[in-house]
Amino acid sequence: MRGQDLSIAKEFKEMGYGEALESDAAALEWLEKNKRKFGHFIDGKFTKPSNTFKTTNPANGKFLAEISKGNLSDIKLAVTSAVAAQKRWSSLNSHERAKYLYALARVIQKNSRLLAVLETLENGKSIRETRDIDIPLVVRHFYHHAGWAEILHEEFKDYEPVGVAGQIIPWNFPLLMLSWKIAPALAAGNSVILKPAETTSLTAIYFAKLCEMIGLPKGVVNIVTGDGETGEHLISQDKIGKIAFTGSTEVGKRIRKKTAGKGKKLTLELGGKSPFIIFDDADIDSAVEGLVDAIWLNQGEVCCAGSRLLVQESISEKVKRKIVARMKKLRVGNPLDKSVDMGAIINQSQLKKIGQMVSESEKEGAKVFQTNIKCDAKGCFYPPTLITDTEPSMEIVREEVFGPVLVFLTFRTPNEAVEIANNTQYGLAASIWTENINLALDMAPKIKAGVIWINSSNMFDAAVGFGGYRESGYGREGGKEGIFEYLKPKGHNSPKKVNRFKESRKVKTLDQTADSSIDQTRKFYIGGKQVRPDGGYSSKLIDKNGNFVTEVGLGNRKDIRDAVESANLSSSWSTTTSHNRSQVMYYLAENLSKRKAEFCAKLELFVEPKDAEIEVNLAIERLFYYAAWTDKLDGAVHQAPIRANTLAINEPLGVIGAISSESEPFLSFITILGLALSQGNRVIIIPSRANPLACLDFYQVIDTSDVPGGVVNIISGSPGELGKVLSEHLGVDAIWHFGSKKYFSEVESLSISNLKQTYVSDGESMDWSNTQSPVLKELLRRSVQVKNIWIPYGE
Ligand code: NDP
Repeated sequence: MRGQDLSIAKEFKEMGYGEALESDAAALEWLEKNKRKFGHFIDGKFTKPSNTFKTTNPANGKFLAEISKGNLSDIKLAVTSAVAAQKRWSSLNSHERAKYLYALARVIQKNSRLLAVLETLENGKSIRETRDIDIPLVVRHFYHHAGWAEILHEEFKDYEPVGVAGQIIPWNFPLLMLSWKIAPALAAGNSVILKPAETTSLTAIYFAKLCEMIGLPKGVVNIVTGDGETGEHLISQDKIGKIAFTGSTEVGKRIRKKTAGKGKKLTLELGGKSPFIIFDDADIDSAVEGLVDAIWLNQGEVCCAGSRLLVQESISEKVKRKIVARMKKLRVGNPLDKSVDMGAIINQSQLKKIGQMVSESEKEGAKVFQTNIKCDAKGCFYPPTLITDTEPSMEIVREEVFGPVLVFLTFRTPNEAVEIANNTQYGLAASIWTENINLALDMAPKIKAGVIWINSSNMFDAAVGFGGYRESGYGREGGKEGIFEYLKPKGHNSPKKVNRFKESRKVKTLDQTADSSIDQTRKFYIGGKQVRPDGGYSSKLIDKNGNFVTEVGLGNRKDIRDAVESANLSSSWSTTTSHNRSQVMYYLAENLSKRKAEFCAKLELFVEPKDAEIEVNLAIERLFYYAAWTDKLDGAVHQAPIRANTLAINEPLGVIGAISSESEPFLSFITILGLALSQGNRVIIIPSRANPLACLDFYQVIDTSDVPGGVVNIISGSPGELGKVLSEHLGVDAIWHFGSKKYFSEVESLSISNLKQTYVSDGESMDWSNTQSPVLKELLRRSVQVKNIWIPYGE
């Protein structure tokens, strides 16, 4: 009996895996039926294949099909079709549009197995993942967004579709990224032109067939296949109202630059180097399982992969041992095998890139541990890899590998963990493992990332927004935030109703010699102090009757640098309670109200007295209004269909560089300050060039209102020159420009230095008087970024 027990135990130990292949027959049959050649899907029909390139299976190098490379005329054709279709599509009522999205969800569900196989064949990811993660999530996205389509007219009353959306997606989650792009765009009443990645077009083509099958009106969805050049043609189209891009930070920046000043909406979902933090009180076995999912899901080709492991020092050796043991059990091989954990890397060039980054780290002194894998030599396979003995400066620690490579770092205290976690230009996601919920919820807001998973990783749902901070991009996909990205406020371009300050006056630059012996130059306000212009230059301010009023300083690069430094040092404004912020803002409003006559007099130098009074009254009201909003712009709790609640929290953008408007100069200045401050941002603001007097003197109100030094910085001067410096400064997180349109292109283009969020709008055409104007409402929403914190529950 005992001998029998032993042999059973031995059998268990030595038991191997038999092959459990998913059949690819149906997918191959579909390819054959189409003679393995595909054209684009434009205006509801497939074009004749032309200018084709080959797509192959990365697991064995076998040819799959020929795909057409879209050229400029293909893109133009798609634009013409999408523009016409969008008018019809957006005029359907919500329910009619919703029905099409429901139909898409159902038909994808019905074809899910074939889609899963096709995705595995072309991408190399395991069938377990395409079958159990990718395709079910695709279906969920279409259902969820069918719901938004249904209630769009109720929930987004002040908004309208952007028009035609140009969408560019990568190869790592081909159909899932397609659904993240197409479902919200259609739900919001837009038509789309989508370009899949060169290496993974097949499921997008199959999706086009499904659109045909359900009778989706022609031109609503257009799929143009191709490479980066095709993508370039797409982003350069004037009639496209929005570009949505997922891919590398490098191409994301290029797209920002190319679309600068074109008035297009833009969302960028880019790379990451996300931290996976394990505290010493964590359930280590669960954490290691979570880690497997974080870094070895999809061969690590995941933008939010937990690729930087941070382990508390006291448990680091234990965790390392467990990871190594678990790595040895990971099965790498034929992705169609249902018991395979990791499939093939997308292509040879990605495989090479991963290999090079790993050997480079070894040369720099890191230790590399890899498991032995036996795979098809013609396939692009790479073993699970753990890199220890690293330094923060190493490329492998800083840069996205986009492969199954984990770097190992340690920390001692929670603060040190935050510091290391944030020591990156990225900010997509983070995983925090601890049994102490207080610690987890204390860490979550401190980490600069758009998604935080507590005791979990890689959780996604259509109802929960996804997207990054910093150079991981901006905009959100999923949830209500995601719908906003495909809408614009109604009347965005309609002329404003009031213009109290009609004429823009020429400002004369004065040489160094002052007119009188007493220096009357209005100073800047930096770090809570009055500061003289660094360059010593100033300009004359002339009133409405042509009389000299005063001199105003002309700021330069150094003044901006000082202001940015102060703003960055005053980060406690962003973390203080919203109640405290509201108290300070009410105080500002009260103090301005006490000095109303004085501020009216300053404006009267330039406008009629009655207009001056209206403007100051509105400014006072505006401060009260935004003080009220400090603790009202609540987030949400999402209930994803997984055992988790998600806290969607609105966080400040950080430091905003703002160029105020020439029209209603004081009111626009106060509005921008109010918006920014109420949500915890710090601001460097450039007032109107022609009428900065009241704005510059507003420091007197600030000084008596408990606003901490550095939270508001005011610098006068050339909006072009100062806007340029602000736009390229790495210490500024967002740019709001309400000056002349002529600057928009430069501002947006320079914002790529650290991928600032930008909002540009011609201040002259804005209705600053109306807090309810959809544009001001939209700006309130844009003064925050959403962080989604996933909190799983249950055993
Ligand atoms: P890219 O960012 O180059 O590609 C993403 C998408 O953009 C693809 O559809 C691509 O087309 C298209 N594209 C490429 N160049 C341009 C352009 N100039 N204008 C418009 N569209 C363009 O990623 P890659 O696939 O080349 O991968 C490169 C690296 O990027 C990877 O090694 C990885 O590190 C990272 N990456 C990050 C992703 C993420 O989600 N964070 C996703 C994919 C890659 P095509 O594929 O045909 O070239």
